[in-house]
Amino acid sequence: LSVSARVVTDRSGVLTGAVLAYHDVTQVILATRVKDEFVSTVSHELRTPLTSALAYLELLDESIEAVPEARQQVTAARRNMLRLSHLVADLIFSTRASSGSSVIDPHRVDLVRVLREAVDAADVDAAGAGVRIASEHPAAVEVHADGIRLRQVLDNLLANAIRYSRPEGRVDVSLEDTEAGVVITVADDGEGIDAADVPEVFDRFFRGQNARRRLVGGTGLGLTIVQMIVEAHGGDVTVASVAGEGTTVRVALPR
Ligand code: ADP
Repeated sequence: LSVSARVVTDRSGVLTGAVLAYHDVTQVILATRVKDEFVSTVSHELRTPLTSALAYLELLDESIEAVPEARQQVTAARRNMLRLSHLVADLIFSTRASSGSSVIDPHRVDLVRVLREAVDAADVDAAGAGVRIASEHPAAVEVHADGIRLRQVLDNLLANAIRYSRPEGRVDVSLEDTEAGVVITVADDGEGIDAADVPEVFDRFFRGQNARRRLVGGTGLGLTIVQMIVEAHGGDVTVASVAGEGTTVRVALPR
């Protein structure tokens, strides 16, 4: 509460009363806290790839003659710049979607192709983390949807499944074509989400205890964007998780 007080006097200066004003500033404090957290997360996430990209570019400047190393350094700089541009794109996307703008552009698309490409791309990171991805799906599933955005959904879910996995972990991806619609599940046997965190995982910038404990990189925007894209398609997404056992994310899309 913010309290202000003022005494009231008559013309001759004699005290006739007092006014006390109580103002509930809870929302203002909460909003400030959210903003501060946002700025801190974003600046930290921006600083790491930028510092790294700048260092590589400086090395490159010194060693431009040495062709093999120069190539490696350019690759690293590009990777970091890409990470940065993905982060900025995520920020812009989430702001646009939450302001109610249309964020999908649907066409006829084979979801199996989208899923296969996402799994192939994630396999590189999975192998690096000692995780195996297995997928199960029909030969083809044609839907009217935004293939680029659904690829983003799969990329985010697979990145999380790998990021919060354990060595020798396993990720199972499945795509089912049912009467009611299409169901995609991404299940991991990783560290799981603390029970108290589960209801909040779709909140913008929310990061769970597991992410803070291990200091893994991330912005807390991944699942928010997944939900925004899925809901823009008229679908819904749910997360079921048991701490210490694993997490399953289920995406249901209408036909
Ligand atoms: P980020 O991963 O960048 O923190 P997300 O929005 O993708 O943000 O996820 C929000 C939180 O949900 C994460 O911080 C983490 O605590 C939890 N989470 C999401 N996916 C998983 C998963 N597969 N296993 C364990 N925890 C997860």
